[in-house]
Amino acid sequence: MQSDQIIGFSKEINYFKSLIASQRLSQAYIFSGHRNIGKHKLAKFISKLLNCDTRDACGVCQSCSLIDADSHPDVIDVKAEPTISIEKIRNIKKEVYLKNYSGYKVIIIDEAEKFTVEAANAFLKVLEEPPKETLIILITSRFDVIIPTIKSRVFKLFFSVDTPEVKKYLADNFTELNNTDIDFLLNLFDGRIGAIKNYLESKRNTLREQVFSNIYDKNSKLALNFYLSKDSRDKVKEKLSVIMSFLRDSLVVKCSNQPLLINRDYYEIINRYQENLSFLSLLERFDLICRIYATVDNVNLNILENLIKEIIWIK
Ligand SMILES: [Zn+2]
Repeated sequence: MQSDQIIGFSKEINYFKSLIASQRLSQAYIFSGHRNIGKHKLAKFISKLLNCDTRDACGVCQSCSLIDADSHPDVIDVKAEPTISIEKIRNIKKEVYLKNYSGYKVIIIDEAEKFTVEAANAFLKVLEEPPKETLIILITSRFDVIIPTIKSRVFKLFFSVDTPEVKKYLADNFTELNNTDIDFLLNLFDGRIGAIKNYLESKRNTLREQVFSNIYDKNSKLALNFYLSKDSRDKVKEKLSVIMSFLRDSLVVKCSNQPLLINRDYYEIINRYQENLSFLSLLERFDLICRIYATVDNVNLNILENLIKEIIWIK
């Protein structure tokens, strides 16, 4: 189960297993690396190694199941949404100094670049003197903006992806891909396995069909409805990724005689779309959708739907 979930991190998993076995685990780490490569999954996996009934992150015992369900009382998983505020840190402090429920306390803080200064200062004491059997894992894709006083108090690990391992995983699990497809996807998504999986899984459902068959026609009876307000923000991002891949392909068709497309199976629709638009108009649309993608975590989703339609429709 575990190897299926954390792809490309065999070295790191073995490293942490040996640290735990030899009782050399530090109390605070920062995991730095690109988004969506699996840093958070690795942090959850380590929390299982520390709490699993078999001490091997079996994935089926009660502790592992509780961790998978985000309800293990000793594993505290903090999301920024939108910042890591002083209130969040006060709550974490209370949890940290509570007696451990059954095993090892693990505090995982995602997007650690989003600490407010006040929160970071309040957190220093925990970093300096964590109680026994407590592990703090900070995660970031923006190590450059982590507050220096935090940086200096944690053990730093920089992650990159083990490409051969990711390739093998993709070949084994997405048998529709050939080697050229796999190299292409690794390039396109900088080797980020999470992003590649999201993309491939969205290919397998009807989302592309829904987006692509209506994207060019404002007056279609089937006119595109995203219903973004009912979606989770992750789902909205997935939908936007599909649109981005469509616009990206339209630009490639516009510029190349032998286009290498993400959505090869929708060539006809992509081609028809790009024929109606200038290069600059396509580029502008692509740019706007990328900007929207970057704001999804912080905006009211109700207003996004109409904005997106206005951007992508041919008027
Ligand atoms: Zn287990």
